Amino acid sequence: MRHVAIVGSGPAGYYTAEALQKLYGDEVQIDMIDRLPVPYGLIRSGVAPDHQSIKAVYKRYEKVALTPNVRFVGNVGIGPDVGVEELKELYDAVILATGAPNDRPLDIPGADLAGVVGSAAFVGWYNGHPDFAGLDPPLDSAGAAVIGNGNVALDVARILAKTRAEFAGSDIVGRALEALEASAIRTIHVLGRRGPHQIAMTPKELGELAHLEAAVPRVDLADFPPEADDALLEPGMRKSVTHLRDFASLPGDKAKVIDFDFFAMPVRVEGEGRVERLIVERTRLTEDLRSVGTGETYAVECGLVVSCIGYQTPPIEGVPYEHGRGRFANAEGVIGDGLYCVGWARRGPTGTIGTNRPDGFEVADKVFAAFPPKGGGKAGGAGLDTLLHARGVEPVAFRDWQRIEAAEAARAREGSPREKFTSIAEMIAALGR
Ligand SMILES: Cc1cc2nc3c(=O)[nH]c(=O)nc-3n(C[C@H](O)[C@H](O)[C@H](O)COP(=O)(O)OP(=O)(O)OC[C@H]3O[C@@H](n4cnc5c(N)ncnc54)[C@H](O)[C@@H]3O)c2cc1C
Repeated sequence: MRHVAIVGSGPAGYYTAEALQKLYGDEVQIDMIDRLPVPYGLIRSGVAPDHQSIKAVYKRYEKVALTPNVRFVGNVGIGPDVGVEELKELYDAVILATGAPNDRPLDIPGADLAGVVGSAAFVGWYNGHPDFAGLDPPLDSAGAAVIGNGNVALDVARILAKTRAEFAGSDIVGRALEALEASAIRTIHVLGRRGPHQIAMTPKELGELAHLEAAVPRVDLADFPPEADDALLEPGMRKSVTHLRDFASLPGDKAKVIDFDFFAMPVRVEGEGRVERLIVERTRLTEDLRSVGTGETYAVECGLVVSCIGYQTPPIEGVPYEHGRGRFANAEGVIGDGLYCVGWARRGPTGTIGTNRPDGFEVADKVFAAFPPKGGGKAGGAGLDTLLHARGVEPVAFRDWQRIEAAEAARAREGSPREKFTSIAEMIAALGR
């Protein structure tokens, strides 16, 4: 019997567990350890609450979680509660699937002013992540700036633009819904350093913006290359650019505007004690498609700045780290003897949910080759339980999570699948502990 610890119960963790089950059959015991009492990582706390069909992927993970040789060990942080070296003593292989939950810092003067928030914090706030439930972002000004030209920036802009009715059926947390309903924001500036042909936004998500109840997207066609150049783009990108071009002919008769501002590089945040404006420098593209400043600047009036410029994996003591790329130092998923990483902790914050599947399967193959089914002798989960008990750490099992889930469903507002608990204390209280 082999014992494997997977740290992190997001997509990468579950795809890896699924692959290990396929390879080992009954000859493996997998502990899926998570710092939160609730599983599924960014499926719960990242993917937009109005995209329930995407969130439904958790059902696949649930199937894996409910098999006898996989155990969820929630409410246990690797680092604070148990060290990686300790895990390596207890398990044949340790696989870090801890994601990339920290915002890459916005490195411009004034970025420390109140009202400048990273997307991990902002998204975590409306999705009920316990680390960010108390964020209370300022929504009392007419302008907001969203920095970035990827799908996370699109999520943030759309959430800021939607009406209460448009959140029907979503699992946005009640407090965020109330705050957004009362928001004074009318113009959402989406700023990208490069042009429409360099966006990292997918067509489905862009297309949604044309159908919002109270908001309309706006572009300046002068920012676009000649239409004939679109033919050179790969098909998905061409679709996205077509959506952008089509935005130019939408009637501008709605209360809110999502204003796409291309060739725009934020250089400074200004304000007395809080954000009042973002100073932006116009850019141009070099031949190799890098953006460079032109020296021409202008001000975007805004009381909220959300930077959606990427994420980093927090380092864990004793684990080699690649600072430039903000992830664990690894060679195709291998960190060192018996220590591996998968998902965003391995690759950095790129790709879709599905990208984590081949990644997990590849690392599972490596674990299987290094630790064949017959053999072992490590203490595994029993050893972890002893260690946690001695430290007074009470883990949350999958059946406990199911009780938390049922309690969230029971208190949901009408039409919503759940009203999430937004603190660890509330989650634990739902278990009657
Ligand atoms: C805002 C946002 C929206 C997205 N929307 C989409 C979308 O619509 N469609 C799509 O395909 N993809 C989307 N993605 C991408 C997708 O969420 C990621 O590809 C995927 O979640 C990465 O999986 P992961 O398992 O590597 O990390 P995560 O999902 O982040 O999971 C990491 C897990 O590790 C746990 N953890 C972290 N540190 C520790 C520790 N020290 N000890 C124990 N546990 C720990 C965390 O609690 C978490 O459960 C989105 C991403 C973001 C940020």
